[in-house]
Amino acid sequence: MLIFTGAGISTGSGIPDFRGPQGVWKRRQPVYYHDFMRSEGARIEHWDYKLEGWSTFRDAKPNATHQAIVKLEKAGKVAAVVTQNIDGLHALAGTSLDHLVELHGTNSLVECQTCGKRTEPGPHFESFRQTRKPPVCECGGLLKPATISFGQSLRNEDLEHAQKAATHADLVVALGSTLSVYPAAHIPLVAAHRGVPYIVINRGPTEHDELPEVTLRLEGDVGDIFPPAVTSALEEPV
Ligand SMILES: [Zn+2]
Repeated sequence: MLIFTGAGISTGSGIPDFRGPQGVWKRRQPVYYHDFMRSEGARIEHWDYKLEGWSTFRDAKPNATHQAIVKLEKAGKVAAVVTQNIDGLHALAGTSLDHLVELHGTNSLVECQTCGKRTEPGPHFESFRQTRKPPVCECGGLLKPATISFGQSLRNEDLEHAQKAATHADLVVALGSTLSVYPAAHIPLVAAHRGVPYIVINRGPTEHDELPEVTLRLEGDVGDIFPPAVTSALEEPV
């Protein structure tokens, strides 16, 4: 199966939904990638914003939904886990990197914009906290948390990995996503358009609710619905 996940699966881990009514974008202006690359002031603003959320991301633990997905993978049922989340919790739960596509990147690494080297965020945040200077790579390149910024394209290799899984899966499950951010929300449809069953579980409406491709729509908290369903499916006697 292709599993597609959004913010609704991580609220149970204490990660706020940035698009919700209390979302950070009500208070801050997003820094566009182009500005980050050109302006030291924009880099300071971006690192300051990321520093504000860092302790939440650093301390967050995977929950029962992340763990249920790992159980499915261990049972050989997962073609790919494609996530919009940047919290790194799928990897922390144990989803293998071979099966994981973090479409919008991850807060659990920092990436050099010149040489691509990826490093642990902790020391960079500590340095920024003390000096207010955005950190730079040993190569001289600009360092940025490894999330996809506004105005920055998704990685081609990630999109290809996700699309490939979507063309092989015989079941697609969307968990905790409003399915409103494209191109990410197109991924489950690639599978559904092939006629494979498409299950959507979310609390609140999604943009795919009215599509004929959706074969089962479950309303409610993913954490209440999905883990017990996985447990009972895997325990089903053959
Ligand atoms: Zn570098």
